[in-house]
Amino acid sequence: MLSAEPSLASTTVAVPCGVCGSSAHAVYQPGMCEAEGARLDWVRCAQCGVVYVHPRPRLDGHARLLQSEAYLEHGFSRGLSESTYWAGRDRWLDEADRELEALEPRLGYVGRLLEYGAGGGFFAEAARRRGWQVQTIETRKTLANYAEEQFPLPVYQGNLVDAPFDEGSFDCSVAREALSLSPDPRQVVAQLYRWTRPGGHLWIREPSYFHSPWFRGLRAAQRMVPRRFLGPELTSVLRIDETHSKLPPYLLHHFHRPSLERLLVDAGWKIEAMTGSLPRPDFLFRRGHLHARERILQWGFRAIDGLIRGRLLPAAHLQVLARRPL
Ligand SMILES: [Zn+2]
Repeated sequence: MLSAEPSLASTTVAVPCGVCGSSAHAVYQPGMCEAEGARLDWVRCAQCGVVYVHPRPRLDGHARLLQSEAYLEHGFSRGLSESTYWAGRDRWLDEADRELEALEPRLGYVGRLLEYGAGGGFFAEAARRRGWQVQTIETRKTLANYAEEQFPLPVYQGNLVDAPFDEGSFDCSVAREALSLSPDPRQVVAQLYRWTRPGGHLWIREPSYFHSPWFRGLRAAQRMVPRRFLGPELTSVLRIDETHSKLPPYLLHHFHRPSLERLLVDAGWKIEAMTGSLPRPDFLFRRGHLHARERILQWGFRAIDGLIRGRLLPAAHLQVLARRPL
């Protein structure tokens, strides 16, 4: 135990809540993450209710984690996807195209789009192909280089605060699963607000699973869950198995509706719509023959997702469309 102490002190830092700034919190899931020998808790903010990693890895350590092979091979998908980040290229492009197809009628325009945390550039490239004038920001060099090599995209590789954009120079800002990865989500939504024109939009997708009663219930019922029925894939996706739960702290925040709303409203955004969903795990939707167990789980997935979308059940994933007031 003693040997772990210097590592804990040097690799992590105690931080206040990234949504409201409060330092008051209660331990939510003890020791769920591990980074360089340090065991980290998920805690819940006493003020706004967001759950976050505490203590947090230091910024350089977290940045290294998010472009590590381990993250890009498996960590980014949290077990939901069977492909690596790179191998998923065509799939991410298709998914982004469908997402934009649904989003554009709600916006009522195709114009200048800024994506923060653009990763390998799949969403931005799908937008460019649909006629958007696109700009991306990506702090991670590995991913920014990939996006620049693969696609004809303008990529700003660097920190958010240093990016040289004029106030109000974009019609729509996008952050897809970027706030939960960011050490400072308040700074992100405030900066995107400045760069988005009055009357322009913000499109956000964030995981909410660790925050959800789904996760809490399954963690509490761990010993009673019929593992043989769930199988190793679902056990891994649901993060209810201790051996799968010692994750590196890639994600630093999981929002729920009130904390995500507070984050955006505090920065000046007006929320137009917030919807919930259940992320779709690949293994339930393979092409070809599905076993009886997979068919039952697939049916269950569709039923639960439908109830979440109808707001009859709590969300495991949140999508928000917000607007900068005129
Ligand atoms: Zn808070």
